[in-house]
Amino acid sequence: MSASAAKKKSGQSLAEWDPEAFRDSIATVDAQGKRKWIFPKKPEGRLYNARKIVAYLCIALLFAGPFIKINGQPLLLLNIIERKFVIMGLIFWPQDFHLFMLAMVTFFVFIVLFTVIFGRIWCGWTCPQTIFMEMVFRRIEYWIEGDAAQQRRLSEMPWNEEKILKRGGKLFLFALVSLVIGNAVMAYIIGIEELEKAVLLAPTENWGSFSFVLIFSALFFFVFTYLREQACIAICPYGRLQGVLLSKESLVVSYDHVRGEPRGRMTKTDEGLKTAEGNGDCIDCKLCVAVCPTGIDIRHGTQLECINCTACMDGCDSIMDKVGKARGLVRIASHTGIETKTPFKVTPRIIAYSAVLLLLATVLVTLLASRSSIETTILRAPGTLFQTQEEGWISNMYTYEIVNKTMESYPIEVRVADPEGGRVRIVGQQMVVPPQELAKGVFFLDLPKEKALGQKHKIQFEIWSGDKKLEEVSTNFLGPL
Ligand code: SF4
Ligand code: SF4
Repeated sequence: MSASAAKKKSGQSLAEWDPEAFRDSIATVDAQGKRKWIFPKKPEGRLYNARKIVAYLCIALLFAGPFIKINGQPLLLLNIIERKFVIMGLIFWPQDFHLFMLAMVTFFVFIVLFTVIFGRIWCGWTCPQTIFMEMVFRRIEYWIEGDAAQQRRLSEMPWNEEKILKRGGKLFLFALVSLVIGNAVMAYIIGIEELEKAVLLAPTENWGSFSFVLIFSALFFFVFTYLREQACIAICPYGRLQGVLLSKESLVVSYDHVRGEPRGRMTKTDEGLKTAEGNGDCIDCKLCVAVCPTGIDIRHGTQLECINCTACMDGCDSIMDKVGKARGLVRIASHTGIETKTPFKVTPRIIAYSAVLLLLATVLVTLLASRSSIETTILRAPGTLFQTQEEGWISNMYTYEIVNKTMESYPIEVRVADPEGGRVRIVGQQMVVPPQELAKGVFFLDLPKEKALGQKHKIQFEIWSGDKKLEEVSTNFLGPL
């Protein structure tokens, strides 16, 4: 807001007026520190329509995700309980933790770069919180309670039949949708097959999964019924990062103050409504504020609460159409672009982040491509000593874990690197590791007594499949002194 316009509005002297005063409070908290409930006006316009398409595609993908298989593996599985993680059909075992972490760091740098260029457009258009809040829960609310004015009226009226029916119906549908989302989240944790089994069982036979689904559903119900925009304003860590990620060159939802100020209502003339002499294009209708789901006034400039949902852009464009002015008074633009009227420029910061991202992505792809297909861990069985066999051989017991990261079954054979030196006796069946599975077991290594004397020999095992040596694993052998 220009100083003169603000002064005119508030009646304050220019000396008293603080253009940054709006930063002293947040739109959702009143002077007593109590939560102010936001009743955003239902948005309309081409961006809102485009957002609906994006949102419903994302929701369809989210619910279809657990059913989509790549090489027999789910698209995404985050099984924290069994420490099994699948991303795009690739299994990440605990042994691949470094790859998982690198993938996370690469993704984080991508988010940073994306935010430096496009601000919080992710939040407004593709974040699950916003998608469900604005495109599912809020739309149910508009359908049952009406637009902002009717919602406000309903909220202020005493409890009567209408209020009980409307609120009850809304909460019932909210609970139902929360339950569906809770089940979808569970499908990403335990897999769709396990979830199907769990759903068919009585809760008493399946307390674990049943309780988790209930906890997730209750959490979503609380978030979408009560917490709402507070999740984006006060809780989301990504939202908190905006202060350090955004620069004056970032493309964000912006009010063109150069064009809009000084703002002022249109005045009636003989030729109809006209902008007063000397005023900018903003007619101070406050539609941009009325549609904002976080309750802010974008005309104050970029704010932490702005999730870049673009509802204010639609609102302002509709007003500009009505008053016969060009659209885009509120648009996606950088602060520098608005002030200098120059197009978006690639900054050294963007180049630096891009270089880091390229480097990380290259290392990640190289490591993924060179990831061993079989990973073996062999350890001497804890708490065991050597055993003396009848023929004078000395044996040690070992446990093995073999992870098969490929899509084929592997018949596995463990050999000692020095075949003259010992023999391996597998306990149980022959080792065949099914695709994308983990095989565990026990075997004995026998060494001739003369080779086994002394504490802790280094032993080298070789893992073979048919005539192909897959890898070598070192461990110890404990013999008599
Ligand atoms: S200011 Fe505009 S883009 Fe930002 S949250 Fe409010 S309506 Fe959405
Ligand atoms: S909708 Fe546009 S014209 Fe109306 S107050 Fe907001 S910026 Fe000004």
